Amino acid sequence: RRENYNIMCDDLKGGEKRPLPNPIGNFEDAFHCYPEVMRSLQKAGFQRPTPIQSQAWPIILQGVDLIGVAQTGTGKTLTYLMPGFIHIDSQPSNGPGMLILTPTRELALQVEAECRKYSYKGLKSVCIYGGGDRDGQIKDLAKGVDIIIATPGRLHDLQMNNFVHLKSVTYLVLDEADKMLDMGFEPQIMKILLDVRPDRQTVMTSATWPCAVRRLAQSYLKEPMIVYVGTLDL
Ligand code: ADP
Ligand code: MG
Repeated sequence: RRENYNIMCDDLKGGEKRPLPNPIGNFEDAFHCYPEVMRSLQKAGFQRPTPIQSQAWPIILQGVDLIGVAQTGTGKTLTYLMPGFIHIDSQPSNGPGMLILTPTRELALQVEAECRKYSYKGLKSVCIYGGGDRDGQIKDLAKGVDIIIATPGRLHDLQMNNFVHLKSVTYLVLDEADKMLDMGFEPQIMKILLDVRPDRQTVMTSATWPCAVRRLAQSYLKEPMIVYVGTLDL
């Protein structure tokens, strides 16, 4: 067991080594071309990127699939949100461009709050979760959204009933993948992803890195780079 160990591994199969971008030391290094992003981060008063952000941002900004393995509280939400905003801002919007799947309602609401706090240019988000007002969610979807944050169960329900269309999604996030698997959401995730374009960019986060999560990554990510932060059993 290695303590506080940061490692970047280039792909799941250990194949051809790809050049890795250097970790960034400050926000400008990643986002100097994106003044809205810089302003959001400055407003929040953050001093510097967290370790996962400094290693993951340059990779995600290259359009490469990424898996971030790090404990809770390491800043994984902004790791995928900031490049996600840039991604959907750079293309015509005709339907949701970013889909974030999370294991629980609490987490979905938290991520949505971060979305509202850090997004810009009036990007619209909607939060879809079980136990919530289903008709209200359907109405919100019908009004048109840029970002969907959802738990897999309710989203799959709305998908089966044709209330949500995912063909426009080009940036997909599987947040807390280990927890989604523990909760038995794999079948719903599988069905949801049948409707998401295969040429999307995918970011997955997980606090742990067991076989089941690796298998999920192998099925749904394309030649991902992996950033591990912190203690890890290798
Ligand atoms: P995780 O998803 O890894 O559990 P979160 O994304 O919820 O962690 O982040 C945990 C806390 O750290 C949040 O309150 C978030 O606002 C804060 N945070 C994120 N990025 C930074 C940063 N660069 N500097 C300081 N705090 C940050
Ligand atoms: Mg998180």
